[in-house]
Amino acid sequence: MKLRSLVIIILGGALLSASSLASVFPLSRPEEPGAEDDPLVIKVGPARLTPLKKEAIAWIDAEAADLAKLSDTVWAAAEVAMEEYVSSETLAVYLERRGFKVQRGVAGLPTAFVGVYGAGEPVIGFLAEYDALPGLSQRAESGQNPVEAGTPGHGCGHNLFGAGIVAAAAAVKDVMARHGLLGTLKVFGCPAEETVEGKVFMARAGVFDGLSCSFYWHPGGDNEVPPGSSNALNQFEVEFIGKTAHAAGDPWNGRSALDAVELTDVGLNFLREHLPPTARLHYVIVDGGKAPNVVPDRARAWYYVRDLDRESVEKHYERVLKVIEGAALMTGTTYKIHFKSGVYERLANQAGNEVIYANLLAIGPPAFTQEEQAFAKEIQKNSGVEQNGLSAKIAPFKRPERSLGDGSTDVAEVSWLTPTAVLVIAATPLGVPGHHWSTVACSGMSIGHKALLTAAKVLSASCLDFLTQPQTIQKMREEWKADRHGREYKSPLPADLAPRVVPKKAPASD
Ligand SMILES: [Zn+2]
Repeated sequence: MKLRSLVIIILGGALLSASSLASVFPLSRPEEPGAEDDPLVIKVGPARLTPLKKEAIAWIDAEAADLAKLSDTVWAAAEVAMEEYVSSETLAVYLERRGFKVQRGVAGLPTAFVGVYGAGEPVIGFLAEYDALPGLSQRAESGQNPVEAGTPGHGCGHNLFGAGIVAAAAAVKDVMARHGLLGTLKVFGCPAEETVEGKVFMARAGVFDGLSCSFYWHPGGDNEVPPGSSNALNQFEVEFIGKTAHAAGDPWNGRSALDAVELTDVGLNFLREHLPPTARLHYVIVDGGKAPNVVPDRARAWYYVRDLDRESVEKHYERVLKVIEGAALMTGTTYKIHFKSGVYERLANQAGNEVIYANLLAIGPPAFTQEEQAFAKEIQKNSGVEQNGLSAKIAPFKRPERSLGDGSTDVAEVSWLTPTAVLVIAATPLGVPGHHWSTVACSGMSIGHKALLTAAKVLSASCLDFLTQPQTIQKMREEWKADRHGREYKSPLPADLAPRVVPKKAPASD
């Protein structure tokens, strides 16, 4: 979707789920000549670049080559959700070498970690992601050219995301150590964002408890602090169990599990009319049987139920379950629900976002060279979109708004546990799709490196504001409390649902 909000997009129920800012953040933004007259625009001036912030920025510049290597290592590993063994270890080792104490494997997720530095209040959370997307293998070239067709690639730029976050945390740690600043930095290595899983299990396990605030960034098409939210979601598979029979010989003895899936889908498509226009239902049939001449005794489909808020999703979900029950009754089958994940809507935090925006104004967007702009235009040409290169602008700061086109993200869970702010930095050419080979290409070369360095600078400067201005965090927390209207976070996951662990592959032997 053209993202106005930072989220991850889960497209049409397909595996592509999540993240893509690309989908949640506008990759292509129309010119905004009337920004001054736009009632949603809020005037924010640049933050002051204090001596401490300048030290953090200088530290990041001095580390630039190492950070590019770090990002490239995660890019080359290109590990999909729950398989990020190399990526998480690479980031964990980077933090350890810079003075963080790292706990590997949290909340039952082998590829999650928490890196901690410092002591006492405030406790500031840095959210890092590093999973890739299936099937998006691509070289760092301006034309589509996979490294190995069909293998994963960083089509959401999470290699930049992870490297930018650990860079920001390490830069702040360096300044804290040198100046004896108080406070705690917690870097959360969050796996499986693209499948909307990692942070949901981490939140249920209490990993994010006790934070004063948190923040993250995402590579996108523009430089901005997006005002939007994201949709709440339940995703699950239903497995129907019937009875097989020869499809021509004695079909009357069969009970078709595929019929049950089809009747569920027919029921859901009738249900749509009686759901609010903000609701979204999507599905794919994962297993519809093996051969037409065999009545399928097993069939399986995967569903997403979304709406603007958690309460609505829970209500729609109950009605969807009734449709499934009805389909089973009609077909004489039974069924099992395999709940995969659920998330809340993300709570935007204007007070925190404003701090990040002010620092973005002070530091400025990435300065792309003519060669990088030419590379981006070549990508645009090869993608069939307008050849206007990479954004060199900072989009206006706007008050929160909801749109029907938002995706879903597991960052939402963190935003219910602590005020959570966001930054988006241009790392892909304007107008290209999200979850696309072009993002993989730009994430593996200097365009992506520049974006991650800019993000690290803006976030480290913002973090120094959070550390040294208690009133800022207080304002963030007051807004966060008001936004929840007395509602407390309750995990959408069934209590007995364990994370989907994918064991580490043994190294190949000759
Ligand atoms: Zn993403």
